[in-house]
Amino acid sequence: MESFVFLPPPRASLSISGISERFPVHRIYCVGRNFAEHAREMGAETPKGSPVFFMKPADAVIQSKQIPYPPQTDDLHHEVELVVALGPGIPDQITAGNALQAVYAYGVGLDLTRRDLQAAAKEKRLPWDTAKGFDASAPLSALVPKETAHLSAQTRLSLEVNGIARQQSTLGEMIFPVTDILVELSKLYRLKAGDLVFMGTPAGVAALQRGDTFTATLEDVVSFSGEIV
Ligand code: MN
Repeated sequence: MESFVFLPPPRASLSISGISERFPVHRIYCVGRNFAEHAREMGAETPKGSPVFFMKPADAVIQSKQIPYPPQTDDLHHEVELVVALGPGIPDQITAGNALQAVYAYGVGLDLTRRDLQAAAKEKRLPWDTAKGFDASAPLSALVPKETAHLSAQTRLSLEVNGIARQQSTLGEMIFPVTDILVELSKLYRLKAGDLVFMGTPAGVAALQRGDTFTATLEDVVSFSGEIV
């Protein structure tokens, strides 16, 4: 039995709809610029070659009605995204044909972003970590096992803030679908059960203020609501 000099922090985990066991989070991968209209609103080229990846720490996940406004920003942005949760049985060699075997569940999440810090980092060609990987930067719904989450190209992904639509698109609008993303990620990293992949956001990103309420929805699968405090 391993022993530690102090008690290790608890493992980040997520609730799963319909069962009491929890999903243990290993890593959080995120896809940048996966919707053409969002890439344009950010002043970026529509990517044609390889997808853009970045990461958040595993313990950035939060499933709470109250999402804290983070420090060191005056421009906290919402990015509603499909979240793919990987389970056991990941193929040794991931291909477009077998990639979905790696998927355990789906959810909807917010890739919260300190847009002011990201803009400054981009300008200086510096990393995005402080803009993207802060505490509670990954609010998430319960995960829905793939057997009961029926996704299609027509499935709508949407976000309302204070009851008003801010972002909406369909999964068919993604430049790189889930299979492509898992193939590309597996060339860069050893994917493991417990990994989450935030699949990128549609157009309509904008600022959140303290007191704002939001509802993120993956149509016919799951939604969650919260308040920025
Ligand atoms: Mn994003």
